[in-house]
Amino acid sequence: MSGELILIVEDEEDLAGTLAYNLEKEGYETLEALTGQRALELAVREPSPSVVLLDLMLPDMSGTEVCRRLRQDERTRHVPVIMVTAKGEEIDRVVGFEVGADDYVTKPYSMRELLLRVRAILRRAGSEEAVSGTMLEFGEIQVDMTAHRVFLHGEEVQLTALEFKLLTTFLMRKGRVQTREVLLNDVWGIHANVMTRTVDTHVKRLREKLGEGGRYIETLRGVGYRFKTSPEEEDQ
Ligand code: CA
Repeated sequence: MSGELILIVEDEEDLAGTLAYNLEKEGYETLEALTGQRALELAVREPSPSVVLLDLMLPDMSGTEVCRRLRQDERTRHVPVIMVTAKGEEIDRVVGFEVGADDYVTKPYSMRELLLRVRAILRRAGSEEAVSGTMLEFGEIQVDMTAHRVFLHGEEVQLTALEFKLLTTFLMRKGRVQTREVLLNDVWGIHANVMTRTVDTHVKRLREKLGEGGRYIETLRGVGYRFKTSPEEEDQ
């Protein structure tokens, strides 16, 4: 099938083996690391992994630390990371997004759920550059990327240039958590002299303009925002 390489970082050997087995059954190639240090070594090898599944609790360093280091390294900065947390590790989950994790699953998770997340991340990674010049559809929202026009049930919605950019940024990264800092950087630009609260104000306005489509933008308290992976996705 895909032949994409998944790096599994998990110190419970049985679980790592089960993950590898199931991913390989789906046509993925896998690498296993039982420690954070090993994960960092494997991540910089060629070919680089397409996704890293990263357990939060590792014997030598935390998953958040591994994630932070992956983000600091030029070679691994863009590799999507799915953080795996146990129930009750809420605070660490928040930290996980701050250090640049793209998604998370909570233990115990079903293999099916995990495979869906992996597939979604890979699909997004592959389509992120290829969207300009096309019509994007998400539930009742249609976006004409060329003409910079947005429609809700076929009725045009008047968005400012900034709101348009915010919406398309969300759409291109659907399912992935976007911190306010990341949005500020990517939508407003690194030199913009605005505060993180500005992001909230604009997201609120965008939600209002999108009417029922506004429900696709989820708020993650203390973290940022996340556009749903699919219009059918349940509220969290
Ligand atoms: Ca663990």
